[in-house]
Amino acid sequence: MNRIPLAVPHMSGKEMAYIEQAFAENWIAPVGPNVDLFEKKVRDYTKAAFATATNSGTAAIHLALRLLGVTQGDTVFCPSFTFAASANPIQYQGAEAIFIDSELDTWNMSPIALERALEDAKQQGKLPKAIIVVHIYGQPAKMTEILALAKSFQVAVIEDAAESLGSLYEGVQTGTIGDIGIYSFNGNKIITTSGGGMLVSANEAWTKEAKFLSEQAKETAPYYQHEKIGYNYRLSNVSAGIGCGQMEVLQERVNQKREIFAQYEAGFAKYADTFSNFPRITYQNEIAGTFSNRWLSTIRVDGIHPLQLKEALDASGIEGRLLWKPLHLQPVFRNHRFFAEDANSKISNAQRLFESGLCLPSATQMTPTEQHYVIQAIAKFLIQAGESM
Ligand SMILES: *Cc1c(COP(=O)(O)O)cnc(C)c1O
Repeated sequence: MNRIPLAVPHMSGKEMAYIEQAFAENWIAPVGPNVDLFEKKVRDYTKAAFATATNSGTAAIHLALRLLGVTQGDTVFCPSFTFAASANPIQYQGAEAIFIDSELDTWNMSPIALERALEDAKQQGKLPKAIIVVHIYGQPAKMTEILALAKSFQVAVIEDAAESLGSLYEGVQTGTIGDIGIYSFNGNKIITTSGGGMLVSANEAWTKEAKFLSEQAKETAPYYQHEKIGYNYRLSNVSAGIGCGQMEVLQERVNQKREIFAQYEAGFAKYADTFSNFPRITYQNEIAGTFSNRWLSTIRVDGIHPLQLKEALDASGIEGRLLWKPLHLQPVFRNHRFFAEDANSKISNAQRLFESGLCLPSATQMTPTEQHYVIQAIAKFLIQAGESM
């Protein structure tokens, strides 16, 4: 059996037609019909009013911060339990990322920690310019609570929906709930353009400004005229062709990802029923009113260090990966402030997640036989671990 990967690109077979068209028409540039069509397809799917395609999700976050006027000396709130790309653009702007703990239902930004951080900021007379909310591994965050806080403190919300394209919060696509949303189409995401991203908003002026800034901020003039610092952040027309083909199978991929998760859950439940000391497995809670794309299937296991499980899987030819290491524990962010959900607890929820969980193979090409093999390998390890506990 081949090594079973965590997540790999899964082409639909429709991509090459768009790419061949781009070659036939010589649209080999960060502009062209595939870029326009890809934006339209994402707008149609997500019901976002306006969209600007970028060459990465990170670039889209950076543009979102620029649109909100984040600059030197500002602060921006961001979850600690996320990928570094959620926070890095804050630092690009010379602003300061302040990290917020997770809650243990969805593993996303804790409204309790957020409220404390906002109260503290207000007292210091310096509210953040923006709150970045992440829907980690595809599971929507507690948006009602977070948006209510953002509204009462009058702070803009950026949704980092890099991992959650296709996920819903009360029937609404993640990415379209806050003031600005971003998606990623990196190689490991639910659909890919090899590398790419998108900024969406109901505010047309913002998406136009994002397009302008992403194309080097060229003013309208018969020569190169610049009044602002721009970026080379636009998506290539060739890459957008991949995205057009991928959009045709997005809903199928969401269904497949959810089926993979359901199989894990059912598989582990069987073992738990059979073996009395089978360690307790818990999952990201798909709380009422949410629908997760289950981009990556993840588990938490009581009493077992995930590194041991990861190594056992490695030896069986299975790729597992630890959950995100909290950003406030990363050397590069060591001097940044962090607001825990429980200020009196020695260990934050974000750290607790990191030290207890694992991402499981979630590639949509994985066969039922392969997934059964993964479930068995994990169960074998856990049964042994349970016996020695
Ligand atoms: C992948 C990812 C990003 C960055 O997207 P790129 O397209 O790789 O730049 C940002 N935030 C999160 C949560 C991600 O998973």
